[in-house]
Amino acid sequence: MSKIYDFVIIGSGASGSVLAHYLTASGANCVMLEAGREWDKSTFPRNEMHTNSRLFWGGGMDATTNANLLFLRGKLLGGGTVVNQALLDRFDDLALDEWRELSGVDAYSVEGMARHYDEIESHLNLHTIERDEWNKNAELYAEGFDKLGYQWAKLRRGQKDCQVDKNDCMACLGGCRRDSKQSMLLTFLAKARANGLSVKTEFEVSDIAHGSHQVAVHGSHHGQQETIYARKCIVAAGTLGTNRLLLKSGYKERLPALGERFFAHPQWMNVAMFDEEINAHKGALQAVKSDDMRFRKQGFKLENVFVGPMGVTMLIPAHGMELLNYMERYRYMASMEVCIRDVEAGTIRVNSKGRLQITKPMQGEDLRRGMAGVKVVKEIYQRLGAREFITSNFNFSLHQMGGCSIGSSPERSVVNESYQVHGHENLIIADGSVFPSAPGINPSLTIMANSHRASECILKEFGVKTEGCTAKKEQVHE
Ligand SMILES: Cc1cc2nc3c(=O)[nH]c(=O)nc-3n(C[C@H](O)[C@H](O)[C@H](O)COP(=O)(O)OP(=O)(O)OC[C@H]3O[C@@H](n4cnc5c(N)ncnc54)[C@H](O)[C@@H]3O)c2cc1C
Repeated sequence: MSKIYDFVIIGSGASGSVLAHYLTASGANCVMLEAGREWDKSTFPRNEMHTNSRLFWGGGMDATTNANLLFLRGKLLGGGTVVNQALLDRFDDLALDEWRELSGVDAYSVEGMARHYDEIESHLNLHTIERDEWNKNAELYAEGFDKLGYQWAKLRRGQKDCQVDKNDCMACLGGCRRDSKQSMLLTFLAKARANGLSVKTEFEVSDIAHGSHQVAVHGSHHGQQETIYARKCIVAAGTLGTNRLLLKSGYKERLPALGERFFAHPQWMNVAMFDEEINAHKGALQAVKSDDMRFRKQGFKLENVFVGPMGVTMLIPAHGMELLNYMERYRYMASMEVCIRDVEAGTIRVNSKGRLQITKPMQGEDLRRGMAGVKVVKEIYQRLGAREFITSNFNFSLHQMGGCSIGSSPERSVVNESYQVHGHENLIIADGSVFPSAPGINPSLTIMANSHRASECILKEFGVKTEGCTAKKEQVHE
């Protein structure tokens, strides 16, 4: 007879790994299925092209149906946390109050979530990027903000010992070669493995079949069809992956809100050409963010950032010799991103082949927010004496959210306050897909905090002692 696990966890990113840690720590028998490969500091790809094509879904070229937005999302063990910038921010009252209003979940407040943030942060090395680690790109950012009277703040990252003087932080987005970035590989996933978690990589789940006492998860493992059985299933495949799996598995009929209210924090990249060398590719890639209520209220934030040469060739709207001329001045480029708190909800669907079909309108308020941010960036660079200012003519998204919103109404949401899919209590989701709206703040710390909160709900229901709950865990069937 096939083994029946307590929990099958689909996806190994911010949500899946945090849940795996807390569930295995309480003695649950868990298996994690991850579509991507396992990489480490000795095997991460060594060039930009391979990074994109090997570590991201769709080779880093996933897009909406009309290609107005490009998505980057990790496909590897540890998920987005291995390829992200590890900027870890708590949500403010603007974001959490809106969530409470939309979802009816009382825990969504700065005070209510503090305990979950504290718990997650106690497992991570956190580091504020101090001024002696800044490069010229960050210095220009702060100088421009100061000159125009805007407020900024230092960024906080999950990192241990980056040795920025060695000057290859840019490579971090293709996986950290120093085991400094606090990805799941080094933190929650490593702990879960030590607790006995089984991990199956290169296992792409195709659908979930759901009964009242058991869940069967079908997929392709190293090219062979395989089925995993468990008493409960945690879908932590990231916003697009989780929506896709539920849609493919036929849940839309019973859950009309599935695939609705999709948000993406669209970004506009801006490059300014200076007469002096900036060398934005050296040292800490990002160090400063806007901390100005005027911008927050207008729905955008600004961060200093840069990308590798291949990324720049895609961002600059030029071809041939013109592009070559720009690339020869790579060292003279400063860069800042505009990221918006989007309000124009998109939709996620799958076609008859199970492929994602995503729409994201950005012609109204979202465009207005983006343009308001770009105007400020232009003003800053003009004040700093930039020779030329360029805004990329396409948008991309690093933060996909929603489609399986949390809430009390099965008509307007997909999971209940305890992160169980409405009407299917042995199906649990706590990843980015449960966000009821876009916070306009880096999401991964809150995905982890939500997943910690979800682990408490699950363990309580599962009968393991959490806060004030005393029943014993049930036996696992083999
Ligand atoms: C370049 C980049 C920079 C970023 N920078 C930051 C930052 O600085 N701060 C921040 O807060 N956020 C950042 N993010 C976003 C952040 O990484 C994500 O929001 C976060 O990782 C999402 O967590 P998750 O658990 O929802 O999904 P993920 O971390 O994406 O994990 C989902 C996992 O599920 C797997 N999966 C999907 N479908 C299947 C399937 N069918 N079968 C099996 N496995 C499947 C995927 O391969 C993936 O590993 C960044 C993202 C990118 C791409």
